[in-house]
Amino acid sequence: MSRCAECGSADVSAIVNGTYYCYRCAGALVRRKVISYLNDLKRRGMIPPSVEVPAE
Ligand SMILES: [Zn+2]
Repeated sequence: MSRCAECGSADVSAIVNGTYYCYRCAGALVRRKVISYLNDLKRRGMIPPSVEVPAE
């Protein structure tokens, strides 16, 4: 039986890059990736400094 790779929960509801995650951990993972992507765009100057991007 599959378990969440992050917290070990048996309540698996998502597969990200071939790894199983529960709903909560998958959400946190995706949010981290999106925030990291936004910060990268901001570092490259593709997002105006006036736009607030949450810290990583
Ligand atoms: Zn989890």
